[in-house]
Amino acid sequence: MLLEILLPNRCAACEVPGPALCIGCRDALIRLAPPLCARCGSPGAWPVRRCVECSGRRLGFACARAAIVYDARARRLVQSWKERGQRRLAREAAALVAETLARPDVAALAFVPADAGRALERGHRPAEALADQLGRLWELPVQRLVGRGRAVERQRGLGLKERRRNVAGAFVSARASPTRVCLIDDVYASGATAAAAASALRRGGARRVEVVTFARAVR
Ligand SMILES: [Zn+2]
Ligand SMILES: [Zn+2]
Repeated sequence: MLLEILLPNRCAACEVPGPALCIGCRDALIRLAPPLCARCGSPGAWPVRRCVECSGRRLGFACARAAIVYDARARRLVQSWKERGQRRLAREAAALVAETLARPDVAALAFVPADAGRALERGHRPAEALADQLGRLWELPVQRLVGRGRAVERQRGLGLKERRRNVAGAFVSARASPTRVCLIDDVYASGATAAAAASALRRGGARRVEVVTFARAVR
């Protein structure tokens, strides 16, 4: 990308000149490790099948896992990834995911599609770029299985209930899905986006949807 050529190389999280993610920041990112909620991947004191965060919710996916905690450092990293559209960051993120999570037992990777306006505005699609890089590392095909339905408001600043309402119906099945599929996104915040996109995959024929994201908000 043009921006990658124009911008001096610096760490996306701390701005120190050098690689896209400096060693100090890479080491400081908090890996999500068990015990986790088997369903939504929220960390806790012991392993559970459901947790306060996900019990009673219809999620559409069987399980969600992430590589790192979405803390302030991870947020800066993801912001700069989205704004600058750095392909090098997609590679770094994919490497961290593949280091932390086992390759999912699925036939293909799908991704949460960027909405057309925002993808143009940034010239970049982080979830798709992450899926492409993970597809290489895990040797899995990446398929465009989820499409955008009606336009949604920005999720940032909305409460949990509003987020869920906001994304319901935001995604459509773009084409027939394999039975087992893994959905890729950059950040798992409330789970509302992943749940809505997973439902679209199920409408397309998926029987089991696993979700993998780079980072996960931890309450
Ligand atoms: Zn750094
Ligand atoms: Zn849970």
